[in-house]
Amino acid sequence: MTTYTFAGARVVDPASGRDERANVIVEGSTIAHVGSETAGARIEVEGLVLAPGLVDLHTHLREPGREDAETIASGTAAAAAGGYTAVCPMANTDPVCDHAGIVEQVTRLAAESGRCDVYPVGAITRGLAGRELAEMGSMTRVGVRCFSDDGLPVRSAYVMRRALEYARTWDAIICNHAEEAELTGLDRDDGAQMNEGDLATLLGLAGWPSEAEEIMVARDLLLAHAVGARLHVPHVSTAGTVELIRQAKARGTRVTAEATPHHFSLTEDEVRSFDPVFKVNPPLRSKEDVEAVRQGLVDGTIDAIATDHAPHPPEQKDQEWAQAPFGMLGLETALAVTITELVRPGVLTMLEAIAALSTKPARSRGISGHGGPIVPGAPANLVLFDPEATWEVDPAALHSRSRNTPFAGRRLYGRVVSTILRGRFTVRDGQLTGDACEEDDE
Ligand SMILES: [Zn+2]
Repeated sequence: MTTYTFAGARVVDPASGRDERANVIVEGSTIAHVGSETAGARIEVEGLVLAPGLVDLHTHLREPGREDAETIASGTAAAAAGGYTAVCPMANTDPVCDHAGIVEQVTRLAAESGRCDVYPVGAITRGLAGRELAEMGSMTRVGVRCFSDDGLPVRSAYVMRRALEYARTWDAIICNHAEEAELTGLDRDDGAQMNEGDLATLLGLAGWPSEAEEIMVARDLLLAHAVGARLHVPHVSTAGTVELIRQAKARGTRVTAEATPHHFSLTEDEVRSFDPVFKVNPPLRSKEDVEAVRQGLVDGTIDAIATDHAPHPPEQKDQEWAQAPFGMLGLETALAVTITELVRPGVLTMLEAIAALSTKPARSRGISGHGGPIVPGAPANLVLFDPEATWEVDPAALHSRSRNTPFAGRRLYGRVVSTILRGRFTVRDGQLTGDACEEDDE
């Protein structure tokens, strides 16, 4: 059994409320001691933060079906490089993850890659068609805790209510992609392209109103409240959505919510470049919306920071704005964007940031063994990072198969040094371990 000590770490562990200097001993796959002792190989980590491995509630791994964009192997490599030990891939693959067989296939491929634990999200409706419910029961029996047609909204209030009713019987979570399709022109050729407002008018791009998100969130909150089921609101992008969730939480609705790093750090101003790397669903919004999303994270209205990591290969993403698909990479930059945009300016403490990136997402989805606490006997799922180190985002250096990061060329604070999954290094001294290091990449 391998034993080593992280000596002199700044242990940031929201589950135990700890942010203090300590030695952490790992024995085999578990944490053996947190305190002043040492054992085995001594790894000096003075000045580095040791936190529970990050947990992403919203990832697109693209496999099966779109392996040109990402594979489970490349996506989990990107996750490990970004400090993640667990991710929840969305169901909009081809075939759709709408029955137990696909769930098991994804889980098996992930276990083979070995870089990150993977908890598939099941589809709400068969084929994401929005009509018949998928085989939610059988997916629950193979471990699915959350259902979503993400990428597409469940348009029918009736189908949504039935999904919530079923989900409640297993205490599972329904996550609806919040987009009112009539308002965004989802079925039209002239559908919404960017946030609605003066800038969209100036640029001549079809606007995506805030209400397209808020109407759907309001409907879902009402239905979840009436049914007593659990709702998770993905990628909150508007001030109005934050307020709706705040009010729903106050009246006892069982709701959790996530925000992406791009929605709390970038505004619609980026679209002036017409660079489709900034095209995302829901779109980048106004400065006031960004501020409201940040406030939602501060007061706990928004529980989690999730990436919505959405890889697209260059031949598709590098098109004219209107033709390019929606979506951005996120796994390898989320921690650094959070540190740079929220922790260093004093919006969130490091403890609060790690809670949003790890502890709260793990708890909300019942992912045991992740999110801390960092205590003796717990699985050693950890990230070690240097909060003061800066690095420049180079798309070519990312581990994802795709390159569509909106942070290219940015200098960010917060560099992942090591990621540890059950005691084993998946990333060590900034490098992926093992031999599956994307040898097929350029
Ligand atoms: Zn979505």
